[in-house]
Amino acid sequence: MHAEIAGAGFAGLAAAIALRRRGWSVRVHEKEAELRAFGAGIFIWENGQRALQAIGAYEDVARGAHRPPGYETRRNGVRNSFEKINGTNRYLLQTMTRQHLYSAIIASAEREGIEVLTRSEAVGARPEGVLHLADGRSLEADLVIAADGVRSAVRDSLGLACERRKYQDGIVRVLVDRAPFIGGDWEHVIDFWAFEPRILRILYAPCEEGRLYLVMMSPRDDKEAATLPIDPAVWGSVFPMLVPAIQTIGARGRYDVYEMTRLDTWSVGRVAIVGDAAHALPPTLAQGACLAMMNALSLAEIVTAGSDVPASLKRWEDQERALTDHTQARSAELARTRALGAGMQWDDVGLRAALHVPFGSRPEEFPRRTQA
Ligand SMILES: Cc1cc2nc3c(=O)[nH]c(=O)nc-3n(C[C@H](O)[C@H](O)[C@H](O)COP(=O)(O)OP(=O)(O)OC[C@H]3O[C@@H](n4cnc5c(N)ncnc54)[C@H](O)[C@@H]3O)c2cc1C
Repeated sequence: MHAEIAGAGFAGLAAAIALRRRGWSVRVHEKEAELRAFGAGIFIWENGQRALQAIGAYEDVARGAHRPPGYETRRNGVRNSFEKINGTNRYLLQTMTRQHLYSAIIASAEREGIEVLTRSEAVGARPEGVLHLADGRSLEADLVIAADGVRSAVRDSLGLACERRKYQDGIVRVLVDRAPFIGGDWEHVIDFWAFEPRILRILYAPCEEGRLYLVMMSPRDDKEAATLPIDPAVWGSVFPMLVPAIQTIGARGRYDVYEMTRLDTWSVGRVAIVGDAAHALPPTLAQGACLAMMNALSLAEIVTAGSDVPASLKRWEDQERALTDHTQARSAELARTRALGAGMQWDDVGLRAALHVPFGSRPEEFPRRTQA
């Protein structure tokens, strides 16, 4: 069985590795000239860690990623929630640069001998199992996977009903040096919120090798804050304790608006849509990449077990869709209400995906106690 995959992001590579490990031949098409991660840092919850274990990338990720001992929220400088994490308690969360995560996944793909073609742009697909490339070629496969991100050309070529929504806030993401913030509470993830004199938020997350990931949220219509390069005076006046980091940002950073994509169906014939192409969500629960890898893994597991690819893809969606829909809905609600400013909303509703054991992972290979 052979799969052609559009997009070498987290979803595309996870699908490629999971299929390859189940005996498929796979080829991945990436439109960029090189494999490079955008977006500064990333949070990977336990479900994402388990998916990484199942695609042979967990050890490399865990070697170096930061394991914050606590997660706290401060509103106008006052702590309003705190939870110990990464010990013997309930929640496992690692923070890292995107490049660290991506490198670990690429290394696993290389070990599996997976062919990844760069400068290979997909422009569409046909349900009978054909991937069309920008260079004019059409490649046949038993399975075509559209993992080409939130603005998926392959998805759009299929004419699927697709709901896309933007929310009121946007985010600047940046990596800086962590040197001024070592030890004590600075090892935690800290979610700094301010509602006066203006609505601003900085999510502070230590990463590997002395890097610090700052997620700087502001309303889209705040022209002074929702802009690049950031204005250190605007941010520093609201978060004085973070000034040593803010003043080093300079021209760096990437700005994104909170977005959501929802499809009527995740497959047509032999074409599956996975990751942000199918279910992008606001980052309020830090689940986009975790869900992308989980759903890519279960896709490989289910399509390998079945004998009829289109029917297997329907079974895959039947099985996975509810948790993804739930996580999208909760993320969207948190984006709309900014409820995280009142403290972490860590309950079985918000963290249902984080606590989920991905289908196709091997729980026996992920003993939680090794994390303590
Ligand atoms: C501000 C912000 C913070 C986030 N934080 C987190 C977090 O902490 N934890 C978490 O789990 N998730 C987080 N996410 C979500 C996460 O980034 C995405 O869900 C994840 O990147 C989706 O992976 P993907 O592989 O589906 O798509 P992408 O990462 O977008 O990868 C798609 C790939 O396809 C390639 N491509 C695009 N078009 C084509 C084409 N036509 N042909 C070939 N290749 C193509 C792209 O170059 C890219 O390499 C965050 C998102 C945002 C916006």
